[in-house]
Amino acid sequence: MVLNVPYVYNNLEGSGEAAEICLQCGVCCAVPEYGCPAQYGPQLDPKHTYVYECLGSENPASNPSIWQCVSCHKCEEMCPYEVSPVHFIEAMKQRALEAGEAPDSITGEIEQVVNTGYAFPLTPNTERLRAELGLAPMKPTEELKRIAEAAGLRRLMK
Ligand code: SF4
Ligand code: SF4
Repeated sequence: MVLNVPYVYNNLEGSGEAAEICLQCGVCCAVPEYGCPAQYGPQLDPKHTYVYECLGSENPASNPSIWQCVSCHKCEEMCPYEVSPVHFIEAMKQRALEAGEAPDSITGEIEQVVNTGYAFPLTPNTERLRAELGLAPMKPTEELKRIAEAAGLRRLMK
């Protein structure tokens, strides 16, 4: 069965509707060293690839599996039919975020990065270790807050 996928990535960019057509060949997930790192289920079975799980679900934006995608773009490189599952999955993440359906772990990480400029909390232990290594203290940055505000990201986080 050919899987026709609404390709909302283009819609998000305001350039009209298009369609991705996945032939379910499974190539993007079949080779462990080169394929999708989010892959699970029996390998070499196109019906149970990670990409199929995301692209084929009824309401992909509500599918918690989309958050396992690490946006590595391997699927795009591997696909012999020039399908780009990662663009679809990223669009679904965007849609989930806008609908307030993103997991707390994701929104918490976004808050952390936007509020401090760092992907990890700045703790007294961090400062102690840096001082021991002769490194300057790390200071939260303000630039990302302004960018997030201008881009509308902060509005989504409320
Ligand atoms: S971008 Fe996502 S779906 Fe594509 S190979 Fe990487 S983890 Fe898998
Ligand atoms: S390689 Fe391309 S056509 Fe084949 S299953 Fe993956 S996305 Fe679909």
